[in-house]
Amino acid sequence: MQTIGLIGGMSWQSTAHYYRIINEETSARRGGLHSAPLIVHSLDFAPIAAMQAAGEWDRAGAELNAAALGLQQVGAQILGLATNTMHVVADSVTKGLDVPFIHIADPTADALLADGYDTIGLLGTRFTMEMDFYKDRLAVRGLDVLVPEVDRTNLNGIIYEQLCKGIVRDDSRRIYIAAIERLAARGAQAIILGCTEIGMLIDDGISPLPCYDTTDLHARALVGAALA
Ligand code: GLU
Repeated sequence: MQTIGLIGGMSWQSTAHYYRIINEETSARRGGLHSAPLIVHSLDFAPIAAMQAAGEWDRAGAELNAAALGLQQVGAQILGLATNTMHVVADSVTKGLDVPFIHIADPTADALLADGYDTIGLLGTRFTMEMDFYKDRLAVRGLDVLVPEVDRTNLNGIIYEQLCKGIVRDDSRRIYIAAIERLAARGAQAIILGCTEIGMLIDDGISPLPCYDTTDLHARALVGAALA
């Protein structure tokens, strides 16, 4: 099995889930006492979030690129970036990188297409919902992507002010479920939990539509790539 490199800390709440899922998947596939050869570079999220808010994407991209190259240098053979939003700078992150980079939207699209969906709702930060980088990556795979028309500020705020700090509230869960209901009414057949913390709040058990959790899909895809 190849060594996985993970750029995390955005937020550390979801990076902790990546760590567990990557090891669970490795154990399930390899059995015995196997766990994942894994190097995590966990960044301080506060300066990254400040760069997001200020639109300093080049600066953030350079910082993540340094982390990616550093992971490669210390032996990572497969690379993942444990946040949907920061894939907005995926091209900068992978500059000069020789090892494969598993883009979070790709295993997500694979799973949706395998299950026969073509119209999906996307929930995430306002960057992921409003900018084109993520929707376009799904659209080239033939997926029609709907994002919430209302309440995006609220959905975004719940991520940064609550989930990234480990705060999980029922009233916030209701806001997310209402957003999913509105996406369903517009024709969405399934929902992408397109922020790596949303799985803390929503799952298939309570969602009106089937959920595709990017944290889970991405973590398992990294293991698949490391074992290929
Ligand atoms: N983890 C989140 C995501 O998947 C949000 C935090 C961030 O902005 O990186 O988009």
